[in-house]
Amino acid sequence: MNDRLITVVGGSNWDMFTYTKELPKAGETIKGTDFKTSFGGKASNQCVQAALLGSKCSIITKLSQDIFGQNILKNYKDHNVDCSNITIVPDVPSGIATIIVDSHGENEIIIVGGSNATFTTTDIDNAKPTIDKSLLLLCQLEIADEINLYALKLAKLNKKTKTILNPSPMPKDLNLVKELLEYVDILVVNKHEFNDLAAFDEQHKGNQNTDLKHMEEKSKSIFSRHTQLNVLIVTLGSKGQVLITRSNGCTMIESNINVVAVDTTGAGDSFLGSLAHYLVESSNEPEYTNQKWVDCIKKASKVAAISVTKYGTQTSYPSIKQVEDFKF
Ligand code: ADP
Repeated sequence: MNDRLITVVGGSNWDMFTYTKELPKAGETIKGTDFKTSFGGKASNQCVQAALLGSKCSIITKLSQDIFGQNILKNYKDHNVDCSNITIVPDVPSGIATIIVDSHGENEIIIVGGSNATFTTTDIDNAKPTIDKSLLLLCQLEIADEINLYALKLAKLNKKTKTILNPSPMPKDLNLVKELLEYVDILVVNKHEFNDLAAFDEQHKGNQNTDLKHMEEKSKSIFSRHTQLNVLIVTLGSKGQVLITRSNGCTMIESNINVVAVDTTGAGDSFLGSLAHYLVESSNEPEYTNQKWVDCIKKASKVAAISVTKYGTQTSYPSIKQVEDFKF
């Protein structure tokens, strides 16, 4: 099973949601109406979703010794995630997101990096044996860019490990992403991130059009700038996804899935974790044909669609059994 390993590098958060009628003004103390906590962080979400589907996963992350860090560690263990590349850092808080939501859905969010801000390249070096035996390395942009760059470069030193980047949250300085993309095989973006990347090219600036013709044009610029990149997947929410490969161009994968969406938070991470799972599951087949990509994307989009039928992020992610039993 080790040869089917998925390794995820990135942050782990503890999310705290406080619900109120109105957001408090500076200096004001008000009563809240509800409170919820959840595990969060894009790396954590993607890793847990892949593990829920049955993949062997390892996470390279840093956790605080505080009560939240202890809970996050237990969550990984409960999902059979390999914890040998988790470093516990003393004297720093956990990565915490404090989210205040009012009755109109408006929110105020404060994110404290905590243990996620303590990553060094040594943490990645220490995880090299795991990266080297992984089929996939997944990165997002919630931890420092130089750490992601280091991890992606390290993974590309061996022929076996394919790299996936989900450039979210997209940094203001897009040149950072440009450098990262030199070491990325598979790029997964939503339509906003896709348009941001396309805007590197003067002719696509301000063009938000996501019909296939425009996407094909924009992706040509992206592929010509990044020679390592072979596959680009653009998620379009309830509409489906577009698969764009260097060799076969654009394929629209319409979503024929009918679900009642109650909360789409974390749907992108569910899609990423599921895609990684289905890619490694079919990795014993001789080659990644266009059809194989389409099949994996369709399966991942089914999982992500199930996730939007429930509230929360990880709490809404289905296990493989729940996917098999789900009636669309
Ligand atoms: P992000 O959450 O990163 O903005 P998207 O909104 O494109 O990304 O959603 C990611 C994936 O989640 C989609 O490709 C789709 O598979 C699934 N998804 C999101 N919203 C819905 C929805 N309303 N109905 C069904 N599936 C959805």
